[in-house]
Amino acid sequence: METVIEIEFLPGNNEQVIKEAAIVSDGAHIHFLFRPPYHMEPHGSKENGLNWEEGFLLYSQVQTVLTEALAPYDHLYAWGEDKCLLGDILNRPIHNLDAIECPVPSKLKATIHCQLPCHSFQDMRCALRNADAEYS
Ligand SMILES: [Zn+2]
Repeated sequence: METVIEIEFLPGNNEQVIKEAAIVSDGAHIHFLFRPPYHMEPHGSKENGLNWEEGFLLYSQVQTVLTEALAPYDHLYAWGEDKCLLGDILNRPIHNLDAIECPVPSKLKATIHCQLPCHSFQDMRCALRNADAEYS
């Protein structure tokens, strides 16, 4: 079985911090929003509308939560090299959809909506909608 994983980041202290993660496969949509890993002046992103302060899951759980959620799948896909780097944390390869000429997510159409208020606008980049679009 295969699945697509999508991530939206926010800039942290000289690094990209995972904010929103989505895992989409046949009949399954799993959505995660992580709390900030450390204190920083609250900031957001114009591209994805997410804010530093929001989130439900502890950042220390990123690895555990994603590893468990991805365990049932044999093949993982993500769009873009930066997201495939997540494979290093998960200790398994993630195939790059960009490299196999899957169209840019923004050119694809998602069939679902994200429940985050900041993602009710279609022009906001959303990990859940992107993952859904890439999977289909
Ligand atoms: Zn979203």
